[in-house]
Amino acid sequence: MLLTITILIAVAMAAYVVFPLLSAETSGGTLPLDVTVLGDLKRRRLVVYDNLKDLEFEYQSGKIAREDYEAIRTNYLGEAAGLMAATQEAEQLKQNDAVVEREIASRRALRKSQPKIEYKCQACGYENPLPVKFCGECGARLAAQGKK
Ligand SMILES: [Zn+2]
Repeated sequence: MLLTITILIAVAMAAYVVFPLLSAETSGGTLPLDVTVLGDLKRRRLVVYDNLKDLEFEYQSGKIAREDYEAIRTNYLGEAAGLMAATQEAEQLKQNDAVVEREIASRRALRKSQPKIEYKCQACGYENPLPVKFCGECGARLAAQGKK
């Protein structure tokens, strides 16, 4: 039990020292937020995996009692699972952002490549916002407009 407490204190101290370094490195940078969030999560996950490896080694070499080993291991695995879930969430958000940005870009490109004038109805004057063959307002045919 004493060993458990000692290790937990050591981990807490390590986190106390390392965490400000990591956040100082990631905050105030020029990278977009989602990149640093994912990078940070990945770093923290690697740290947990390292700790697990060390723990495994110490247990195999008989430095840790089985119940301490299992308790700490459960802790680490929970932490890793939490980081994994957070990573997936962040990646999902990033993907959603990318989809929205692509959509906006393609709509802008569409608007640029197709000037409104081509879809303005000569019968009623309605400016159809999309490339159509028939006026959305009065139904008149919009053949060969704007290409005089
Ligand atoms: Zn019309």
